[in-house]
Amino acid sequence: MAEETEKPRAEKVKERKGKKPHKNKPTSAKYKHYSIEGGKIKRGKTCPRCGPGIFLMQAKDRIYCGKCHYTEFASESKK
Ligand SMILES: [Zn+2]
Repeated sequence: MAEETEKPRAEKVKERKGKKPHKNKPTSAKYKHYSIEGGKIKRGKTCPRCGPGIFLMQAKDRIYCGKCHYTEFASESKK
């Protein structure tokens, strides 16, 4: 009757510390940078260094590439 006193394996794994539980990767949010207007595809600003496909993060006063850290400041002097 040793089987009854033994804990199920799944419970033992939960107690063990150190290893984080595996989480699935979040789906890519790149589709957010595309929009279709009147049959034409509109793309967000892409990185001049990384090329098309790498989109730039937009802040209120600058745009930033998370891959190569390219930063472009909104030009206020042109106004
Ligand atoms: Zn880049």
